[in-house]
Amino acid sequence: MDTNDSLFERARQSIPGGVNSPVRAFGSVGGAPRFMKKAQGPYMWDEDGKRYIDYIGSWGPMILGHNNPEVIRAVHEAVDMGLTFGCATQREILIAEEIKKLIPSIEEVRLVSSGTEAGMSAIRLARGYTGRNKIIKFEGCYHGHSDSLLVKAGSGMLTFGNPSSAGVPAGVTEHTLVLEYNNPEQLKEVFEQYGDDIACVIVEAVAGNMNMVPGKPEFIHAMRELCTQYGALLIVDEVMTGFRVALQGAQSLYGVTPDITMFGKVIGGGMPVAAFGGRRDVMEKIAPCGPVYQAGTLSGNPVAVACGLKTLQLIQEPGFYERLSQQTKKLVEGLTAAAKEAGVAFCAQSVGGMFGLYFLDKCPEGFNDVMKSDTKRFNVFFHSMLDQGVYFAPSVFEAGFVSIAHTDEVIEETIKAAKVAFAKVAA
Ligand code: PLP
Repeated sequence: MDTNDSLFERARQSIPGGVNSPVRAFGSVGGAPRFMKKAQGPYMWDEDGKRYIDYIGSWGPMILGHNNPEVIRAVHEAVDMGLTFGCATQREILIAEEIKKLIPSIEEVRLVSSGTEAGMSAIRLARGYTGRNKIIKFEGCYHGHSDSLLVKAGSGMLTFGNPSSAGVPAGVTEHTLVLEYNNPEQLKEVFEQYGDDIACVIVEAVAGNMNMVPGKPEFIHAMRELCTQYGALLIVDEVMTGFRVALQGAQSLYGVTPDITMFGKVIGGGMPVAAFGGRRDVMEKIAPCGPVYQAGTLSGNPVAVACGLKTLQLIQEPGFYERLSQQTKKLVEGLTAAAKEAGVAFCAQSVGGMFGLYFLDKCPEGFNDVMKSDTKRFNVFFHSMLDQGVYFAPSVFEAGFVSIAHTDEVIEETIKAAKVAFAKVAA
């Protein structure tokens, strides 16, 4: 019978690194990735038949837990009507209307199939709308793997980024400025220098790709003010935070109105749906209304949209986010107490249904703080939890996710396992 180990061996013969997305590999923690067979509620089961409490939630989408019966029914009904038409459908209007109802900054929205597409298209739109070239992103934020966004900070204070991946020519990233997250002064200086050629600022208001680092309100507000002052667009990437940190997204927590917002993950409910939307005068620059080209064979796929639409409807049940936030808080408080008891330097925090666990003395404020994480201790913790059937992201640099199906019992079981894991870390 195949085991995780033998499957990994086999997978590596046919799939680069044995995985179809690098975050799934156990590169930094070591060992064979788990090959999952099925999932239900807060649990997943691997090919060995071992059960795990899931704190990855497919990297964010599974806010209702796995296999919610109403979502599955909606998907079955859609499948029975046909897999894809390549034509307009009524359900696309329904999901657009639902997004507009929940997110007041959205006047028009275009569906795509991944967060990467949403980011790439939003940047092209911002450049097309403003007629400018430069974009600002922040170190540690991730907006998908399109070429102009695969950039790391160069050396020096005011920095043009260098490609962070082979295969991206320096010419493609020469217009991308990479600045420090949570540093409004630096942002202001860069606007003073390059403001007339800045098309947009793109940001995760609560960053979830350098573990979790919430943006400081003064940073997010400075960004909005500077964009308005210099005629640049503000793109808030809510692929991870949208319908995750609050029903109205991170923008509602900060009281900020983006010009363009990107969505993904939860809006697909586990299927490939993402989107970008915003001000009507901006969105109308997109083909077929305007000159900015953007397209997709499977954009607005009827089965995927049925899944996302039902998910968006279910998360609007009264008390949903109170409960989700409460459960997530219970988890991080329980883990913090367990670490303290074991004498391990650790801290944790949450925003809505998203959390960060840090092997640090205090919670990080930016990329450089996160980089100081004790990777060795995290790896011991991760493997002990995994052995005990609790699945956290296999990297110290990833955020975690709780679903509405994570009951008190599930969280208590996690904390019990964490006591064992922290004792191992301390040993
Ligand atoms: N933006 C953010 C904030 C993300 O977290 C991600 C993926 O994790 C993306 C964009 C890219 O989305 P996708 O993986 O669907 O291309």
